[in-house]
Amino acid sequence: MNNMNIKKDTGCMDDYDPNSLPPDVAQMKIARSLEVIPGVEKLALRSSLNRTLAADIRANINVPSGTNSAMDGYAVISSDIPAQGTADLQVIGNCRAGVPFTDTVKSGDCVRIMTGGILPAGTDTVIVQERVARKGDVITIDNTTRTGDNVRRAGEDIAPGDIVLNEGHCITPADLGLLASLGIGEVKVHRRLRVAFFSTGDELRSIGEALDAGCVYDSNRYTLHGMLRRLNVDAIDMGVIADERELVEQALLEASEIADVIITSGGVSVGEADYVKEAVNKIGAVEFWKIAMKPGRPLAFGRVKDAWFFGLPGNPVSVMVTFYLFVQQALRSLMGQRKTESFTIKMPCVSRLKKRPGRIEYQRGIMQRDENGNWQVQKTGAQGSGILRSMSQANCFIILPMESEGVQPGMAVEVQPFFSIM
Ligand code: AMP
Ligand code: MG
Repeated sequence: MNNMNIKKDTGCMDDYDPNSLPPDVAQMKIARSLEVIPGVEKLALRSSLNRTLAADIRANINVPSGTNSAMDGYAVISSDIPAQGTADLQVIGNCRAGVPFTDTVKSGDCVRIMTGGILPAGTDTVIVQERVARKGDVITIDNTTRTGDNVRRAGEDIAPGDIVLNEGHCITPADLGLLASLGIGEVKVHRRLRVAFFSTGDELRSIGEALDAGCVYDSNRYTLHGMLRRLNVDAIDMGVIADERELVEQALLEASEIADVIITSGGVSVGEADYVKEAVNKIGAVEFWKIAMKPGRPLAFGRVKDAWFFGLPGNPVSVMVTFYLFVQQALRSLMGQRKTESFTIKMPCVSRLKKRPGRIEYQRGIMQRDENGNWQVQKTGAQGSGILRSMSQANCFIILPMESEGVQPGMAVEVQPFFSIM
């Protein structure tokens, strides 16, 4: 009730816009229209890092390949282990990883064995060396070891025919090792996505050019380059395009010929020089959305010929936020990857955060431990959508829900660590 009164009293002070789309709805609309790009290639194992599997991978060997010892000790026959007290066994040989003992072990005998050594025929248990007293070639064992202790069975981790990695999985360093352990030297992956991008704006200058009055250096192509590189796509930088209808149109057509995806920044607002939406409408199909989020309100999505199109806003922070929220998952999906659940966690916020209801906000935060070792978050300072430094300083987004009217110090907030998205 109280809440509603506040809203009524400050009706003009909120950010509600009936024509704005909640971010998750926009994400859903994008996801629904995407299809995995065709094209598969076979790569040498090392080259497959950060690429997406185009087929399930099945094991064709056992891991471990043979039943072996998990410890340094003695391979014994479990029926020789006494029920009570101790027993003596004769050491009849040695075995270690790669150097097996080839005779069969009989009751009363045992074999010295090292970690990874294949269990000699007849034995089924390893007694760790710390539990054994050895004199010459005789060991005295106690009754504390159970049948099968300290033994790794053949195929215990992976058996032939097991699927070890699924289609759609993005190859990690662990996977490289796993596949190597199976003797797999080549993998089938989806081809790399080609992504062309350009900035729009008469005010943009490139590094090395003089910064005339009212001009800014183009930073969006650099953040985009960085974000795309991390996704391991083929990133094609098409430079800066001036705010002229024909030039924008021409650049889009050119991009559609060489890329699967086109990303632009700037020119999607409703200003006088915002031609991007218009151009895509003419030569392709565009859905234009006002997203109920901050930063990053305008977003265009659609197609130009055979390419997918994302028109991001111009403000540098908006570019990054909208890329991570809408474009990154889309590119992954086009490369055949499954949707990953986004990771967020709640922690107390030590800053006062200003916010008006009506939009989801992605404020930039720094999370760190307090003096007691508990995680907390603070904002990076001014939160303007042009302040790229806030992204550099931050290590997380503080996500404030639509209806939030701000945060008082000490309140719990939802935090999305950058390590989980970048
Ligand atoms: P726009 O969406 O084109 O109206 O741009 C919004 C704001 O973002 C303007 O202040 C632009 O100068 C700025 N901006 C647009 N593109 C870039 C860029 N590539 N690098 C840095 N700032 C930009
Ligand atoms: Mg512009």
